[in-house]
Amino acid sequence: MAHYDLIIIGTGAGGSTLAYKLAPTGKKILVLERGNYIPREKDNWSTQAVFLDAKYKAKENWLDKNGQSFHPGIHYCVGGNTKVYGAALLRMRAEDFGEVEHYGGTSPAWPISYEDLEPYYAEAEKLYYVHGERGIDPTEPPASTPYFYPPLKHEARIKELFDDIEQLGLKPFPLPIGAKLGEDEVGTAPPVLDRFDGFPDPSETKADAHVAALRPALHHENLTLMTDSYVERLITEASGKAISEVVVNRSGNIEHYSADLVVVACGAINSAALLLRSQSEMHPNGLANSSGVVGRHYMAHNNSAMVAISRKPNHTLFGKTLGLNDFYFGSDDFEYPMGHIQMLGKSDPLMFREDAPKLAPGLALDYIAEHALDFWMTSEDLPDPNNRVTLTEDGGIQLHYTENNLEGHKRLQKKLRWILEHVGCEKHWLPNNLYLGKKIPIAGTAHQCGTIRFGKDPANSALNEYCGAHEVSNLYVVDGSFFPSSSAVNPALTIMAQALRVGDYLIREVL
Ligand SMILES: Cc1cc2nc3c(=O)[nH]c(=O)nc-3n(C[C@H](O)[C@H](O)[C@H](O)COP(=O)(O)OP(=O)(O)OC[C@H]3O[C@@H](n4cnc5c(N)ncnc54)[C@H](O)[C@@H]3O)c2cc1C
Repeated sequence: MAHYDLIIIGTGAGGSTLAYKLAPTGKKILVLERGNYIPREKDNWSTQAVFLDAKYKAKENWLDKNGQSFHPGIHYCVGGNTKVYGAALLRMRAEDFGEVEHYGGTSPAWPISYEDLEPYYAEAEKLYYVHGERGIDPTEPPASTPYFYPPLKHEARIKELFDDIEQLGLKPFPLPIGAKLGEDEVGTAPPVLDRFDGFPDPSETKADAHVAALRPALHHENLTLMTDSYVERLITEASGKAISEVVVNRSGNIEHYSADLVVVACGAINSAALLLRSQSEMHPNGLANSSGVVGRHYMAHNNSAMVAISRKPNHTLFGKTLGLNDFYFGSDDFEYPMGHIQMLGKSDPLMFREDAPKLAPGLALDYIAEHALDFWMTSEDLPDPNNRVTLTEDGGIQLHYTENNLEGHKRLQKKLRWILEHVGCEKHWLPNNLYLGKKIPIAGTAHQCGTIRFGKDPANSALNEYCGAHEVSNLYVVDGSFFPSSSAVNPALTIMAQALRVGDYLIREVL
């Protein structure tokens, strides 16, 4: 059985970032990824291929809490879900690390503070080429450095919208976006940004985990990537206290590897599933799960996408440059958090072919597309132990999820409507269900987190503050699983920052 110093399972935001951090140590590292590279091809930017044919989505179905099958919005490939993410890379607010009272209940505190993560947020922003500007977003947490890259320029219609929103007394801000524009390389032609949200980027301008972190890590000869390598289970030595074997289905063949350290970074749902599958005599509830929390407290945000039809045409190519946090913590008429608003990439007629005729009767699809302004709203969902990942009898995934804390989200929708009615939009609103694929809300697993929470007390958490398992000495989980609460900003930058923090700890104390 081949032995490594470290095995990392999964190449998404968590796994690739950790690989980047640890590759220069010279340690022998094996990275296992169940998927393959997404080819760079025309279809990457095709609405038909990406949204309607779901070409790059995982070809598997899961069950919901009622046993109904659905096709999840999940991607198994080098770079994981970051291959199709929008690259909106925001820090959590400092307050999100403490207890926060919501209309629907209490969001629990994290075992670390914002200050603990701050240096790693800065490191992650640099690594992922985040373009932004501090001092404008009224809720932004304190930062030790300015952004390393200037904010992306708004296209004309978005700049106009930005100014109009400011005229209402609000504080829109340049949305921090991870984009590798080549400013620091001589002789690079200027890229034209297009279609980040939901699409892979064949120009590789989008700073996803593959492009920004894993590829540079692969320049180190001590790091090996194996694709098409699905980790079936983790086996412990007889005491149950350390992993002794990683069982891999590699292109149909079963192979076994061992390592001093094993890092699970399969994404919140698949990491929980892997630990549950690795149940044994010493770990009857699943690996590292005496607390019973593994798989529980699944969160994915209360998200909605909305298309407003503006009276003026919107010929924007890349609209994802505007964010709004004025209602993040509440407003004069609602004392609880509502959440965050950002723009999406520009929609096209195919994206709302089905919804538009019902919701905006009389308006032609082409007119709607030409005048559409696309928004994404995120509000916090609360960790409920009954919202959980379990395994079906045949080893498949069942995702039990009941929405909660919806009042703040509804209020946020109303606020956005009010704003847009005052900046020259028609009173037509299309909930854009095609974002993330099918019209089944639970399929929107983009912001999945929380299923293997970290904490100080092993009785109600599975991981310690460095994401090491309380019960298994050589097991770490470095992906969205560790979140005890979901905040209301996109999760990837926090996953990346914590991966860098864990990497630092491993270099300092363990490797
Ligand atoms: C359409 C879309 C848009 C998004 N936009 C944004 C955004 O703008 N900003 C933001 O912050 N976030 C965004 N997100 C969310 C972001 O992509 C995720 O938060 C992030 O990728 C999660 O990182 P992760 O490491 O937890 O898991 P993932 O990125 O999901 O990576 C997990 C990896 O593990 C692999 N894997 C799974 N199981 C196994 C196994 N058993 N064996 C081997 N390998 C395995 C998977 O193939 C995958 O490569 C978006 C997501 C989607 C889908």
